[in-house]
Amino acid sequence: MSSSFPPPPTLATAHSGLPERLVDLGTESKTRLLSKRTLPESVPRQGELPVLPPDTTRAEFNQAIGELQQILGTEHVDINDKPLVDGWYVEHPNTHDAFHIALQDDLVSSAVVYPGTVEEVQAIVRWANKHKIPIYPISMGRNIGYGGTAPRVPGSVVLDLGRRMNRILNVDAENASCLVEPGVSYFALYEEIQRRGLPLWIDTPDVGGGSVLGNAIDRGVGYTPYGDHFANHCGLEIVLPNGELLRTGMGALPGREGADNPTWQSFQPAYGPYADGIFSQSNFGIVVCMGMWLMPEVGHQSYVITFPREEDFPDIVEIIRPLAQQRVLGNIPQLRHAIQELATTAKPKSDFYTGPGPIPRDVIQQHAATLPLGAVSWVFYGTQYGDAASIATQLDIIRKAFSAIPGAKMLFPEDLPADHYLHSRVHVCSGVPVLRELDWLNWVPNAAHLFFSPIVPTRGKDAQVVHDIVVRLHAKYGFDLIPTLCVAGREMHYIVNIVYDRSSLDEKRRAAACMREMIAEAAAEGFGEYRTHILFADMVASTYSWGDNALMRFNETIKDALDPNGILAPGRNGIWPRRFRGKGWEILGSEVEDAIAGRGIGPKSERKA
Ligand code: ADP
Repeated sequence: MSSSFPPPPTLATAHSGLPERLVDLGTESKTRLLSKRTLPESVPRQGELPVLPPDTTRAEFNQAIGELQQILGTEHVDINDKPLVDGWYVEHPNTHDAFHIALQDDLVSSAVVYPGTVEEVQAIVRWANKHKIPIYPISMGRNIGYGGTAPRVPGSVVLDLGRRMNRILNVDAENASCLVEPGVSYFALYEEIQRRGLPLWIDTPDVGGGSVLGNAIDRGVGYTPYGDHFANHCGLEIVLPNGELLRTGMGALPGREGADNPTWQSFQPAYGPYADGIFSQSNFGIVVCMGMWLMPEVGHQSYVITFPREEDFPDIVEIIRPLAQQRVLGNIPQLRHAIQELATTAKPKSDFYTGPGPIPRDVIQQHAATLPLGAVSWVFYGTQYGDAASIATQLDIIRKAFSAIPGAKMLFPEDLPADHYLHSRVHVCSGVPVLRELDWLNWVPNAAHLFFSPIVPTRGKDAQVVHDIVVRLHAKYGFDLIPTLCVAGREMHYIVNIVYDRSSLDEKRRAAACMREMIAEAAAEGFGEYRTHILFADMVASTYSWGDNALMRFNETIKDALDPNGILAPGRNGIWPRRFRGKGWEILGSEVEDAIAGRGIGPKSERKA
């Protein structure tokens, strides 16, 4: 393997770096991925730079940025006028969407600023109100597949909170909780807890480089019993769009002699309306610190159950439902398709199939047969928790339940080679952040991905309806279907990963069309997405239309009350402030494909014909 790529930064040198224990793996992963890149590292940019915020002349922008430099210091304000570099996961850009689905230059900021304190965040908010310049907060900016660090409105000023606000403010071992700033990654939190020798777990998503805070408020998930991140946060501190500072939950009650409230990280709702919810997946405030619960260390046992037949999918879902409702299943398990057994080898698709279009089912089976799990169709990844006796009892119940599926087979880590993906799940499901999930990005050159993530009832027939939609549309648009189902007792996140070559406008157009049709067809069945890429936000928001769009009117009412100048992340989650409404900013239907064709993503009147 070529060794021309330098190792990624470590936590010792960058808040977004890797822990030492992962540097070699990270270097390998980076080299493997970047050595297959055919896109140049950067391309010259067109037009005058930086791209300006809306309704702002260059002279006004320069004047405003000068003021910002005075407030923060010039070294904490970067103008986005240099070539755009997509980088890779650990060295990700904060200038644009590294996994661009539109043109690389479409979703860009005018500048990136780095506040170091809450007071500086407040000062930036006041500055934005004065100049009516939109600002877009990010924590770590690794929201890849959902827009990364890109603002929805081109020319917004990105607030990269993580670079200078990355302290672990408190770890309370007795309460099993912590209080973190936006720039604390799962890697950093995990390493700190290890350093202190505390018997506590964090809960990490599949890859550990994201911000604990950013992921929770975007309602991301992980895989220990504390896997619902927003449900396990406790207390927020927020800078509102008018610059005021707010504490939610028990934090609203001052502690003794000005101290933080002693139950801020203990009780979520406090008294009165539970405000936290409106600060998740929204543009109502900038979260500057967050409390999070940690799970006391416990025994754990990961396993896989394999199923040989494609058509048993709905029956598998039927078996999971009662096991999850009874809480026999220890975490939110994943049901994956055999294609992932191929993709998590980190080999490119071309090693398995060089024909046109998606890799056929029989070819997947043929290759799966040579891999450790054998010729399987579906693979269930679960983990049980507790002491050895209770885990044994749980596993008996689970084994018995799944034995109703012909050919079902349960395997444990010791049954599989050391490089099998199950070993990575053992880590993730016991709160150890890793990088392994990046491996399937080697599937195509210049890989980027989009997630289609509808919420579906945990019922075989509903699961089959969505499955049929995604199978048909993936075939229509020529993509491999890479599904991961996170299955709970009453609903499942049916997550589809469209992996596309971002050097190919045709692949991007097809990926966008596939997304658009999946969103529409799923909505027609009553299924909506829990999260989406910023370019599809209007489309997804518009599907939540019950009561003549009552929910969006409610969101807009809050938005206008909190943010009358419309400065905070306009358009995020489809919520446009009054100043932007009725001006054609929304991207609906085939307009996403128009953007990929180079017509722009600004208001309709400014898009090219
Ligand atoms: P990650 O933690 O996965 O790196 P990001 O930092 O990219 O995630 O955050 C995900 C999204 O959540 C951002 O694009 C932004 O819209 C929103 N967000 C992140 N951090 C904050 C914050 N501190 N306050 C308000 N919104 C935020």
